[in-house]
Amino acid sequence: MELTVLNNLVSNETTGPHLTYKVGVRRKTRQVLVGGIRVGGGAPISVQTMTKTKTSDVDGTVAQIVKAAEEGCDIVRVTVNDKEAADAIAEIVRRSPLPIVADIHFNHVFALKAVEANVAKVRLNPGNIGSRDRIHQVLRAAMEKQIPIRIGVNSGSLEEDILNKHGYPTAEALYESAMRHVGICEEVGFRDVIISVKSTDVRLMIEAYRLVAQRTDIPLHLGVTEAGTTRVGTIKSSVGIGTLLAEGIGDTIRVSLTDEPWKEVEVGKEILRSLGLASRNVELIACPTCGRLEVDLFGIMAELEKRLEGIKKPVKIAVLGCVVNGPGEASEADIGIAAGKGVGILYRKGEVVRRVKESEIVDVIVEEVKNFQPDESQS
Ligand code: SF4
Repeated sequence: MELTVLNNLVSNETTGPHLTYKVGVRRKTRQVLVGGIRVGGGAPISVQTMTKTKTSDVDGTVAQIVKAAEEGCDIVRVTVNDKEAADAIAEIVRRSPLPIVADIHFNHVFALKAVEANVAKVRLNPGNIGSRDRIHQVLRAAMEKQIPIRIGVNSGSLEEDILNKHGYPTAEALYESAMRHVGICEEVGFRDVIISVKSTDVRLMIEAYRLVAQRTDIPLHLGVTEAGTTRVGTIKSSVGIGTLLAEGIGDTIRVSLTDEPWKEVEVGKEILRSLGLASRNVELIACPTCGRLEVDLFGIMAELEKRLEGIKKPVKIAVLGCVVNGPGEASEADIGIAAGKGVGILYRKGEVVRRVKESEIVDVIVEEVKNFQPDESQS
């Protein structure tokens, strides 16, 4: 659920309570199918995460995947970094409710094993897995099963010659590295690729993604790598991923946090919601409160958040703390409350419905949400 606090409400009385933000037109890309999930080509932006267990621990890994799926994850990646992991991948694919991406670094045998296990995508940089013969074996096996590949370039692990040429990791260097791997794929006619050009430096990743977006039609997987703890990682990812999405760039996202996979999904989904790119949920708006407040708004919002948890309806609810600014904002939402001394005025689609006691506000809103019928355009 999205909880929005209207911080500019008080000072913006004459020009309207808040600005309408329009997300830029989405960049046109080719489309790639990851399991059942479409990536690029105008498909909804998918949210990914990565498991943090040893992949050989099948039960633990599947448990993390299930929890991520419950949080709304679309695609999940698991590392295939050793023989035990490669042996476990087929069972994980069988038991997973989500498409599985196998993360391969240098070992072409693990890549072949992942393809054999019917993963939905392989994350692999073809130039890193050895001879042309090995590379072509993997690409042909993936092509036969229509398994796409994500080329994942990272500013911390650029090829030495590219680093020497550019001096240090630049956006051009990241672009050049990605296109080198794309070129290898194209040698055998492999076009089902997705690119990521990640960095821990938010400005660098933004620039690098912009370059790839300007110069190719390849779908992009957005992320700030090793973003950090939940607080810092959430902020860095929101700025990096959010900036690009607002420009219409990006087809699938992964927020990297030093935290549980489901937490990454929660933040990723919130980024999408904040840009109106995932609107199938309850959007809860509240004023920040000030000295004019006439009800216990903190208590009402905390209770509402809890009661509306898990409801999947594209409904916008606004609860405002006083009669000065409340009516305008409340009447713009699908369901609104403009509170006054111990009461609230209930609005439905801009129309005043009735007065409700402060103690009944939460129950009344929950009831309104249950009965709410979204327009076709909202669902
Ligand atoms: Fe605005 Fe009233 Fe809320 Fe204060 S209490 S922030 S004036 S709506």
